[in-house]
Amino acid sequence: MFHKVAIIGGGAAAATLVSELLERRTPRPLHLDWYAGAPAAGRGIAYGTPSERHLLNVRAASMGMFVSKPGGFLEYAQALDPSVKGSDFLPRRLYGDFLQSRVEQAVKHAASLGHDINVHPFDADALVPTADGVTIGYGDEESHADAAVLAIGSLPPRPLAGVEDAAIASGRYVTDPWPFLDSVQHDDRPLRVLVIGLGLTAVDVLLELSAHWPNAHFTALSRHGKLPEPHLAAASAPTDDGSELVEAMQDDPNVRVWLRRLREATANAKDWRTVIDSMRPHTQGLWRDLPRAERSRFLRHARWAWERARHRMPPQVAAAATRLEAEGRFERGRGRMRAVRLSPEGTLDVVRALPGGTESTASYDLVVQTVGLNTDTQRTEHRLVRQLVVDGLVQPDPLGLGLRAVPDGHLLDGNGKARPNLFAMGSMLRGALWESTAIPEIRKQAQNVANMLLG
Ligand SMILES: Cc1cc2nc3c(=O)[nH]c(=O)nc-3n(C[C@H](O)[C@H](O)[C@H](O)COP(=O)(O)OP(=O)(O)OC[C@H]3O[C@@H](n4cnc5c(N)ncnc54)[C@H](O)[C@@H]3O)c2cc1C
Repeated sequence: MFHKVAIIGGGAAAATLVSELLERRTPRPLHLDWYAGAPAAGRGIAYGTPSERHLLNVRAASMGMFVSKPGGFLEYAQALDPSVKGSDFLPRRLYGDFLQSRVEQAVKHAASLGHDINVHPFDADALVPTADGVTIGYGDEESHADAAVLAIGSLPPRPLAGVEDAAIASGRYVTDPWPFLDSVQHDDRPLRVLVIGLGLTAVDVLLELSAHWPNAHFTALSRHGKLPEPHLAAASAPTDDGSELVEAMQDDPNVRVWLRRLREATANAKDWRTVIDSMRPHTQGLWRDLPRAERSRFLRHARWAWERARHRMPPQVAAAATRLEAEGRFERGRGRMRAVRLSPEGTLDVVRALPGGTESTASYDLVVQTVGLNTDTQRTEHRLVRQLVVDGLVQPDPLGLGLRAVPDGHLLDGNGKARPNLFAMGSMLRGALWESTAIPEIRKQAQNVANMLLG
């Protein structure tokens, strides 16, 4: 058993692990050093938004913190408002309140049991394995632990290739939408806004900015020009458990064959969503057995379609996006951003490659980049990850999906051996698991990592 544990990260994954550890009976009191990076420990990126327009994309009934209690969030929400239903998509702000309140309760209760829990509102920025554990560096200080868990979410986004430094320096090119959205004020000007990317974050940006900027016009640019698929208001009952499809996919780990099989299965289903959802418990296993060349093919050719069908918009969000489009305030464009340059007038000129091989240029007052989670550990400014990679203590995933790890969360050292006392959770495990960011996966990881830490 590891008695003294460092938990690094301030989001849902760290909060869930801390709570899971403190739920257990242990033969000796634990000493936890939680490096949360911010005072509001537990909210992280997804649940730190104060906006009521930003909704969970998972139904309330499935957002519990513990594997043993998947309905915990629903109970919390119903205690505040008895009209809430399990099938509702609630504000992420409320989920952040839930995480924070649960973790605060757990920490308070732990002190009465003799555990020593220290929540540090700053980043851990270095980590060095020693003969008997790990040393964690933060600022000019360091501390020692028997084991450490990286629950750092995804990495800070980097500007896309083709964006000039002057465009970034102008403040009109937003690389990270979340801190920007927190500071947005009402503005009546007829602003022209380009959103690069068209996933769930793009829609969140669109809904928030359009509410604050009533006269702005929005364009979203993506390779295929399609919005994420919507959830239905009521979930359809699955017609089967997907095992036949999964077995057929296991027999032939080839992305082209998988896509054909999925297309057939969804075409024959009453609601295609039930087919995608029935795959969820099997996705990690399918990914694990997929050869690297096929993983790479999946990322190049199938990722966008998978993510669009798998990470769906709540119906209210889909309706709001459709309304903006019908009002002529939002349009979708197909193509790829080639370059973003600061114009002599101070706006941004965006060069876009169109599907037919031609190019067009248009001017915008603001460009917001929303191109999905950054998990490229080889090219990152994240201090801790850079230190670990540069010092050869861990290995980047070869496809840019976090860090190389055993599926149970043990990180691999420079020689490809599992480090006995260094674990990861969440997005850093995408290379090992693919499906590793949402709460239903994270709570399972918290349970497994807690089991390993406590022996
Ligand atoms: C906009 C958005 C909406 C989402 N909506 C849903 C949803 O509705 N349902 C669902 O199940 N999933 C959703 N997800 C998936 C989401 O990623 C997970 O649910 C969950 O929030 C992941 O938590 P995390 O702790 O792994 O990462 P994060 O939320 O990213 O938290 C990691 C935190 O660690 C901090 N950190 C990083 N480095 C350090 C360091 N060195 N020291 C200290 N702290 C550090 C970061 O600043 C960050 O605050 C959403 C994701 C996003 C981005």
